[in-house]
Amino acid sequence: MSSSDEELSLSLLLPSSKVIALRSALLDWFEINGRHWIPWKLKADGTKPDSGEMLCVYKIWIAEVMLQQTQLKVVLPYWESWMSVFPTLPDLANANEKEVLMRWQGLGYYSRAHRLHKVANIFMNLIGSKRSLNSCFWPRDIETWLALPGIGRTTAGSILSSAFDLPQPLLDGNVKRLLARLFASSKPPKRDLFRLWLISEQLLSPLKPRKFNQALMDLGAMVCTPFNPRCDICPWQEYCSAYALGKQKEFPVKEPAKPLPFEVIGIGVVLNHHHQILIDQRLEQGLLGGMWEFPGGKKEVDESIEQTIARELKEELSIEVEVGEKLIDFEHAYSHKKLRFIVHICKWLRGKPQPLASQKVEWVSPESLENYPFPAANTKIISSLKKYLNTDKLTKDP
Ligand code: SF4
Repeated sequence: MSSSDEELSLSLLLPSSKVIALRSALLDWFEINGRHWIPWKLKADGTKPDSGEMLCVYKIWIAEVMLQQTQLKVVLPYWESWMSVFPTLPDLANANEKEVLMRWQGLGYYSRAHRLHKVANIFMNLIGSKRSLNSCFWPRDIETWLALPGIGRTTAGSILSSAFDLPQPLLDGNVKRLLARLFASSKPPKRDLFRLWLISEQLLSPLKPRKFNQALMDLGAMVCTPFNPRCDICPWQEYCSAYALGKQKEFPVKEPAKPLPFEVIGIGVVLNHHHQILIDQRLEQGLLGGMWEFPGGKKEVDESIEQTIARELKEELSIEVEVGEKLIDFEHAYSHKKLRFIVHICKWLRGKPQPLASQKVEWVSPESLENYPFPAANTKIISSLKKYLNTDKLTKDP
């Protein structure tokens, strides 16, 4: 910690009377209004844990990784389905990559699924298959968790406080917003992390860390919401600087918005004479690694979309096609760019498909497409393709 950090941390020490008042108002609110039903925060018999009682680390770790960038209500069915297929660490470690991606399909940020699988194998070496079934043998120190790929301070803090009731602070998106409003932070949260972490640490109840952290997340998610904070029912109203200023919606201070880069992508749904469809598997590294997709690529300036598709299929798969009618045209936004996909049905003419820019290519029947993990954008293509094939088009050449 630098001397300026130390000065800042001393200046941030909240008066203990205020800390105690904030803690107790929040914990009282949580008892009545909190989300006490979250399945991985309950014991195996469905009851609430007592103070200091251990919960299943494996279940909490999976949930916390799923919750990175994703809301609880979205995660719930994925977590349930995951637990029905990989109920324990050895089940996950021994699964193949395709099964893991299939369970993740639709959650986005697929590198998280790859990392979960990788970390499952690290834990198998660290803890052992049999001992992994008992949470006692899982690591309780934050350094071990932070050394794992894909685990940041919030995820580690949430796992340790939820599973072992240890006093580790957290700072997820909801909590950043809540604390930025409570103290009317003058900087966007991204530029004020040091201060926000200190506040989260100072507020944390040393006696009830699991309850306190859950209460903080629940208040952020249910009351101090992004667009319409429910200050009328907020237990922190009398302490809230943004509320006192009457400017709740002006906090957190926003970063100036940058427009997302935009690209047009030409995609070919290639059919052969046996009415099989050509799909390829993305390289393991990079965005959507290991997922399957329909081939295509970025449209160059002064190129028609038909030319883009024919060129991309030649360059990336070494095949020649006749580009036919348009199947679908839609936009899809990722966190870092926005894409417009223009998809055409193509007739394969010649050339054995080669995975020149992917790791694998396969001809598959339309029915078997659902056995492959596809990114969310491709599911629109699959449903349009199903409609297309259900017409009389299959009886004709594409
Ligand atoms: S009073 Fe309003 S703005 Fe302040 S913490 Fe509560 S809900 Fe958020």
